[in-house]
Parts: sequence; structure tokens; C-alpha cells
Amino acid sequence: MDALLATMAANAISTSPVSPLLSLPHNFHIPGFVSFSQPAAAAAAVAPPPASLVAVVADQGAVAPDVKRAVAVLKGPSSVEGVVNLSQEGDGITKLDVRITGLSPGKHGFHLHEYGDITNGCISTKSHFNPNGLKHGGPEDAIRHAGDLGNVVAGSDGLSFHLISYCLRIAETSIVDSQIPLAGPGSIVGRAFVVHESEDDLGKGGQELSLSTGNAGGRLACGVIGLKAS
Ligand SMILES: [Zn+2]
Repeated sequence: MDALLATMAANAISTSPVSPLLSLPHNFHIPGFVSFSQPAAAAAAVAPPPASLVAVVADQGAVAPDVKRAVAVLKGPSSVEGVVNLSQEGDGITKLDVRITGLSPGKHGFHLHEYGDITNGCISTKSHFNPNGLKHGGPEDAIRHAGDLGNVVAGSDGLSFHLISYCLRIAETSIVDSQIPLAGPGSIVGRAFVVHESEDDLGKGGQELSLSTGNAGGRLACGVIGLKAS
């Protein structure tokens, strides 16, 4: 008997000439049955997605981000030395974690130079990395070398070592920049960081070298950027 009723009910639904969702008010409820709510789009949203679509979405969520990593160890003729750890997720901005010790207190120009060549010390890294042929500027400027990363500041965070009468200051900072990718045509892997003796005037100092080097003075330490394991 139950089977017969079920068959009759199924036939009644399948042979109905008009969809109940189109012919009924926006909201109604039949006691003992489910409630319906229009519009049809809302009803369609309740329907479970095809199994194949669920599988695709699940796969996309499981993909690990593509993170590239690199590192540079800075050394030079002075007591200044440091480490720069770099990372880039996909085609996003590059993040630099910078730690440099042995600096005099204050600001020091910090740049990416064109070559990873230190055969003649930091001088053979040549000029600031400048693939677009622009003037020197600050990291926030539209007109800048891609290698213009501004200044690092030693001692501003209170970190310091005092050795008798000699004071070694630490510059520790994080930098994010969109012009120094770790892969592709503009990759900076194989180039070099240089930390300078003086403050970078970001091209605004009005000095002879302001628009080429920021008048940041001598090169205290440098390091070639190499790939690093993830
Ligand atoms: Zn520059």
C-alpha cells in the first residue's frame, strides 16, 4: 500500500504541467511538508553542487602557496656585517628581513646594486639596480631606481652593544617592495645589497650625487643574493 501511494505521489509530481515554484506565492508552507521560498535562484542555491565541482574546489584549497626564498650575507672592509632574508609569495611583493650590526647610530643608505660581483669588494657591484633607466629616489617615489630601498636606521630601537669605549649599533627592520622580484625577467637573484656610510637623501638633497646615489657615501658592507631552501 505504501509503495502504491509513493508511486502515485511521484507520478503526480512528474506529470504536473506547471512548476510549483513558478505558480505559488513567494512564501508558503504545506503542513507536514517542506516550506518553499522564492525566488527560484534562492531555491537553486540550496541544491548541492555536482560532486566534480566539489572536488575541484577542494583541490584548489589544498594547493600550497608558491613561496620563493633567498638570502644575502653582508660583509665588507669594516666591522659592519649583516644578513638579509628575502621571501616572495607567488607574484606578490618581496619581503626583506634585514639585520645589520656594527653601524654608527643613525640612518644608512641601503640599496640593491646591479651586479653580484664582489671581486674588487663592494665597489664592483657597480650602480643601483635600475632596469627602467630612472633617476635615484626614495622607495615610495614613482621616479626611483628599482634598487632604491631607502635607509636602515641603527640604534633607533635601543638595541646596541657597548664594548668599552666602542659602540656597535644594530639596524633591524623589515622592508616590503614590489620592484625586486625573486624570479622572472627582473629577478634580483645574483645581484647585491650594499649598506652605506651615510644617509640616503632619497634624491632630494640637492647635492651633486643626490640623483644618482642619494649621496649616501662609502660602502660599508655588501652581500650577493642567492637562492635559499624553502
Ligand atoms: Zn638609486
